[in-house]
Amino acid sequence: MVRQLEADILATPSKGVALVTGAAQGMGKDIALRLASDGYDVAINDLPNKLELLKEVQSQIEATGKKSTILTADISIESKVKEMVESTVSQLGSLEVMVSNAGICTTKSMLEVDAEEWDRFFAINTRGTFLCYKYAAIQMIHQGRGGRIIGASSIASKRGWEMGSAYSGSKFAVRGLTQSAASELGRYGITVNTYAPGFIDTPMLADAANSVASGADRAVADKAWAGMAPLNRIGQTADVAGLVSFLASSESSFITGQSVSVVYSRRSPLRVIFS
Ligand code: NAD
Repeated sequence: MVRQLEADILATPSKGVALVTGAAQGMGKDIALRLASDGYDVAINDLPNKLELLKEVQSQIEATGKKSTILTADISIESKVKEMVESTVSQLGSLEVMVSNAGICTTKSMLEVDAEEWDRFFAINTRGTFLCYKYAAIQMIHQGRGGRIIGASSIASKRGWEMGSAYSGSKFAVRGLTQSAASELGRYGITVNTYAPGFIDTPMLADAANSVASGADRAVADKAWAGMAPLNRIGQTADVAGLVSFLASSESSFITGQSVSVVYSRRSPLRVIFS
């Protein structure tokens, strides 16, 4: 019985190919696994220092009977993103879904952010997303079958955060980029949307939380952050992966140019902690 089930899974035809950036951990990892269980072969990207984690994700994808390839690259570098998309196609055959998930975050007063740090946020969060959209779109137009381009914005892309100027600024820009790209690419049957998560339990959130609070204060901060969400909990990666699965599916074919909030935020997050 189990053998038959395994054989059925292995025999299921692929829905196409998805490429997920920042897939070694956090949301990117769960999105990659969800798309594999939805039936996609999945190319997974992250920085070279995350290779071991990527190998674990690849094994988990292959255990579902889908193909996977690892493409280490810094998504802020144009030549690397072009190469990453080309390698996805040469190794897995095509590109139907691009998930530009990789990003960085900080919690720091605007008065302490220097120009170099500001530029780093825009290089990774904004330019990196632009490059992923651009090279995915070129490939999808070439294939002539439409496609799905999905980016990571944030609730911080809808309301500027205290202690988050560089992050909020870079994510607001992702929303603008997404609307423009959706307007341009609709004629090719390509939709472009972002997921805009609130607080989701990932290594990024742990780092951000540790930078503003430690020890007993950290527990208070976690409780306060959970309390920002109407459902009174911190989100899980599966909450986001489910949305991405929908945005990648045929059911979402008329939805484009949107940044879909995963949760409504009652107040500016750091005000919750500091007030
Ligand atoms: P994470 O830090 O846990 O994972 C992000 C991954 O991106 C890491 O593995 C990292 O190595 C990779 N990455 C960073 N820079 C890269 C680069 N230049 N090239 C390639 N890979 C790179 O983060 P996460 O919480 O899973 O966040 C995923 C996305 O969701 C990010 O864009 C983040 O800004 C956004 N987001 C997160 C939250 C949250 O609460 N966790 C909320 C809103 C939005």
